[in-house]
Amino acid sequence: MTNKIYIGILLFTALTGIIFYLLYRKKKAELAEARRLYQAVHGLTRFADIMDVIVEELKAKGIDVLTYLMKKRKDHTLTNDDITIPITEYSSAVSAFFTQQPCSLNTRRLKGADKELFDKYGHVSFLPVNLGHGTPCWKTHGCNNKECKCRTLDARECWLVSDKAIPGGQMETYPDKAKRCMSCQSFSPVGVFIVRGGDISGKTRFVNETFSGILRASLLFENEAKRASLDALTGLANRRTLEAALISRYELAARYAHPLSVCMFDIDHFKQFNDTYGHQIGDVILRELATFVVSHVRKVDLVARYGGEEFTIVFPETDKNTARDVVEKIRREVESYGFAGDKKITISMGIASYPVDDSISAEDLVGKADKALYAAKENRNKVVTYSKKAEGLAKKKNNANGR
Ligand code: GH3
Ligand code: MG
Ligand code: MG
Repeated sequence: MTNKIYIGILLFTALTGIIFYLLYRKKKAELAEARRLYQAVHGLTRFADIMDVIVEELKAKGIDVLTYLMKKRKDHTLTNDDITIPITEYSSAVSAFFTQQPCSLNTRRLKGADKELFDKYGHVSFLPVNLGHGTPCWKTHGCNNKECKCRTLDARECWLVSDKAIPGGQMETYPDKAKRCMSCQSFSPVGVFIVRGGDISGKTRFVNETFSGILRASLLFENEAKRASLDALTGLANRRTLEAALISRYELAARYAHPLSVCMFDIDHFKQFNDTYGHQIGDVILRELATFVVSHVRKVDLVARYGGEEFTIVFPETDKNTARDVVEKIRREVESYGFAGDKKITISMGIASYPVDDSISAEDLVGKADKALYAAKENRNKVVTYSKKAEGLAKKKNNANGR
């Protein structure tokens, strides 16, 4: 009898030991995994870099990521540029996106976007990606309606709450609700991975529990960085961005002996314009002029607000004559365009080019374009290209102004 008790105690102790050992091993493995993942994303601030890590991690778990459909908030679509799916239409990808549940392509009822996805990628599944729990919608909007389901359920995923449960009846149709929710700050889905192979169950949890926080932080960081690089009024590159971009483009031009042109332009008599119509209309003019000029140059050309009512255009791979033709066309069209409805303005423009103007640096090139602008201000509503004569004129004008 005593022996049996001893054996029982021994067995119990051994079993408990084994259980504790296994738990310890599991915890240790989890810690090592957490440390490894931490190191993989450590120091990353770009959304795309973190997504690369996620793709690698999924690959290690036997899941091949074919592509990523990104949420385009303004267009209300999911897209990878190759394929674009409106979020207001049913598709397996949209379903995974909204519900935040992984799912496979519904091959029994192939139509619309699902058919397009099947034709392109075959049998695939969708893994949603989101930014984790943010601020609930009623907090975001300072909503005091305690009746609302979003509030009473403390439903973080408020976009899944039936529109009928939301008082006020503002969101009557599904497309309206989907669009509205998608542009709300509380909406946390950001896209879906299209994947093949492996067991996808639990992978959404893995992706979102592990990475949603850092993805959210990276988007915040990128948005702030973007905001800091743009001019708040016009949305153009600001002076700091211009200077950095110009230095790198100048270096490229110098290294490969390629032409580079810079145009500085300024609105004529803008002070008088403000005095006549008010600063608010003046601001509208600045915004519209920015859009106007951007639409008249190539995507690779950089338009920036230099300050006040002065702007800069950088034309990479463009010689002086070509730049002059482009700029002359802009000047002419600005002259005849009706800004802020029907207001007329004119602009004066100066151009300098590498290598013909013997600039020694990006700063020098801008300085020379500025001198050409000064010369253009002699008569206004004019384009002047840099020359020694233009420089002489600018000097004379500076001296006369006591500068
Ligand atoms: P000029 O033909 O010689 O260029 O004359 P100007 O009146 O345009 O030049 P000046 O440098 O005397 O005045 C520039 C004016 O631009 C003064 C200022 O009121 C206006 N301005 C600068 N920045 C802004 C802005 O952000 N908004 C508005 N509305 N006006 C601005
Ligand atoms: Mg001016
Ligand atoms: Mg000015």
